[in-house]
Amino acid sequence: MASPAEAALTFSLEPNPAPASDATRAAVLANPGFGTHFTDHMVTIDWSEGTGWHDAKVSAYAPIPLDPAAAVLHYAQEIFEGLKAYKQADSSISLFRPDANAERFNQSATRLAMPTLPESLFIEAIEKLVELDKAWIPDAEGASLYLRPFMIATEAFLGVRPAKTYKFILIASPAGNYFKSGAPAVSIWVSDYTRAAPGGTGAAKCGGNYAASLVPQGEALARGHDQVVFLDAAEHKWIEELGGMNLFYVFDDGTILTPALTGTILPGITRRSLIALLREEGLTVNEGRYSLDQWREDATSGKLVETFACGTAAVVTAVGKVAGNDGEFTIGSGGPGQLTEKVKARLVAIQRGQAEDTHGWVRKIA
Ligand SMILES: *Cc1c(COP(=O)(O)O)cnc(C)c1O
Repeated sequence: MASPAEAALTFSLEPNPAPASDATRAAVLANPGFGTHFTDHMVTIDWSEGTGWHDAKVSAYAPIPLDPAAAVLHYAQEIFEGLKAYKQADSSISLFRPDANAERFNQSATRLAMPTLPESLFIEAIEKLVELDKAWIPDAEGASLYLRPFMIATEAFLGVRPAKTYKFILIASPAGNYFKSGAPAVSIWVSDYTRAAPGGTGAAKCGGNYAASLVPQGEALARGHDQVVFLDAAEHKWIEELGGMNLFYVFDDGTILTPALTGTILPGITRRSLIALLREEGLTVNEGRYSLDQWREDATSGKLVETFACGTAAVVTAVGKVAGNDGEFTIGSGGPGQLTEKVKARLVAIQRGQAEDTHGWVRKIA
């Protein structure tokens, strides 16, 4: 629970005395790539036992001093979020469902025995940083400012228990266009490794899950695939998700299936939004289990016509080919299917302010 003092936290501003020059920034924005360039500022908010959240600050983007004994470095008490700020056609700036990110951040925090952050503070931090560094939002169609809020355990203590001090940090990084229309379908590798076990941290957005996914992802790349897909840990039978994207299956009778959130799957905000949009179209979206064997059988018989993956980074990506120890199979024509393209266009239009936002998902900043 937030104390009244926390709810009333005010952010101090220490402007970067040496921000990037216009020329440097322009060069970055001309070809931002992903995750390599950062804006002039960052937000930090500290938490300590007894005091709660304090010292909310917007300051120059810079390395942070960290004690070598800081708990995050030893026991991985770390969580994060990922969302994007978009420049709209009218030059206004918008965020997509930041309240959902705030809510999930706190669910992750609770699972990792970390303090929760009042949702209003999470959103205020984002608005402050985006407003201040808005010159870093690329103009190009489909480009965005990627926002990375995260929290680390900072207490210098090697005993195993939840830390007594934490730091919330928000950084921002210009990102190029991830979702070119007509992008090719990806090829995915079915991993022998698992991502999340029942009772584990699969539903939390924590760095530890990603550390464990690097070897399987590397295997997929080494075998010539784009992404890894994980099966469930208990039976190694049911399809869960990709390394950082949720999955949807489209059948020839028009119904759609997505794996149910059983605790081992990350509850994606894109997933949740697509379910709502598809149902609004009158389509049946089921949440349930789907086995690798069934996937292969249905793709081969033509009962399954499309598969797509979704997440904030790439929005919607068609899956064209699946390969594993038992051989490979192609889905549909092997390229992006009709519904995949349609639902991607619909979501992107809402995010970019080109279609009416009937759900109140888009939050304008300025
Ligand atoms: C973040 C993430 C997703 C996608 O979630 P979005 O909220 O749609 O971006 C899916 N799977 C994993 C493992 C993730 O970390």
